[in-house]
Amino acid sequence: MQLYTKILIGLVAGAVAGAVANATGIEPLQNLFGALEPLGTAFINLITMIVIPLVVASLLVGTASLGDLRKLGRIGGKTLIYYMSTTAAAVTIGLGLSNLIKPGSGVSEATRDELAARYGGAAAERVDLAANAPGWVDTLLGIIPRNPVQAAAEMDLLPLIFFTICFGAAITVIEPKRREAVLTFFHGINDASMVLINWIMELAPYAVFVLIAAVVANFGFDLLQSLLVYTLVVVLGLMLHAFGTYALILRFLARLNPLKFYRKIAAVPLFAFSTSSSNATLPLTIETAEEEVGVSNEVASFVLPLGATINMDGTALYQAVAVMFIAQIYGIDLSLADQLIVVLTATLASVGAAGVPSAGIITLIIVLNSVGMGQHVQAGIALILGVDRILDMIRTSVNVTGDLTCSAFIARTEGESLLLDGPAEPAAAAAD
Ligand code: ASP
Repeated sequence: MQLYTKILIGLVAGAVAGAVANATGIEPLQNLFGALEPLGTAFINLITMIVIPLVVASLLVGTASLGDLRKLGRIGGKTLIYYMSTTAAAVTIGLGLSNLIKPGSGVSEATRDELAARYGGAAAERVDLAANAPGWVDTLLGIIPRNPVQAAAEMDLLPLIFFTICFGAAITVIEPKRREAVLTFFHGINDASMVLINWIMELAPYAVFVLIAAVVANFGFDLLQSLLVYTLVVVLGLMLHAFGTYALILRFLARLNPLKFYRKIAAVPLFAFSTSSSNATLPLTIETAEEEVGVSNEVASFVLPLGATINMDGTALYQAVAVMFIAQIYGIDLSLADQLIVVLTATLASVGAAGVPSAGIITLIIVLNSVGMGQHVQAGIALILGVDRILDMIRTSVNVTGDLTCSAFIARTEGESLLLDGPAEPAAAAAD
């Protein structure tokens, strides 16, 4: 059985079990799923523990085997442009749908007050977290780590990527005998990480069951009703981006059959859905890109860790809808200029969001502030917090799908032939 089928079974079974507990209101059952959740967390820890060794080893080997540093610069440039443009496209979809459907216009004042009362405290916590976040200059400075070991310890991927690339570049110019020794060592670490991922993935269906059952069993479905239009607009936007924008990119830029691609990578978004974390999904994302899609290690090891950190199309799209929703509820008319600011800040805010659960709602505060909605931040966050978990699951799936799509595109522009190439469609050479 394919991995994605196994994960899907775990997911559906978990959703059904959780829904039964939720609908029947049998407390011991709800408590049981709540009590089992740490097992799911244990699994997430298990897979996350591979992130650092895998990223360092595979990126070091990848960078060093590129041989030519100009190639790295080229791949880096293309990747950044790709990531920024697709994120801006995602935000535009979110804004377009919100203007069209106006999800905030149907929410009554009573619902608004009820949500504010129910989630006001939790929203205040998020606002505090955002207040402690570093500014833009510090964020940019933070890309250069003073201590790469500390960056690794804190799972701060961007500085770690920066350090590893510098180190990998240096390895290409040292004495061949020494270079081989270092590369052989890190090759071994890379291979061992891959083996470990496969072992851990054996547990994935059970972990997914536990994680999903816990979420569904304790989910406030009554909330979904009052926030239904908002939720649907976010989901619709995410689907349009995942199956529209990405399909077009896959078809016309990566010259791949989108349906085949989706089938091959399905385990990754399903896993992201269950964990709500791009970082925890990263080992599987890298493995899938290399083993299922056939992206080279040089491309995957660079594009994917970077993507897990800075490319969050789903998050940015969600932020765009959320800002419009909150504005509509408070009767604030966001002009075209304001919405252009949202495109810019939501794109940047999603870069700043870490690949962990709920990160997007914290950086949403930056977007709200950017269009002068500072005084509605706390109440606005309270409005949407109740359905955030479920939206986080879906947007994280889109985030990782975006990373994988980019890896296929970049591989293609580098002239790589991919495993999905059918006999009728020979791998053509690079487009550039
Ligand atoms: N959970 C998301 C991710 O890991 C980030 C977010 O939107 O909260 O990609």
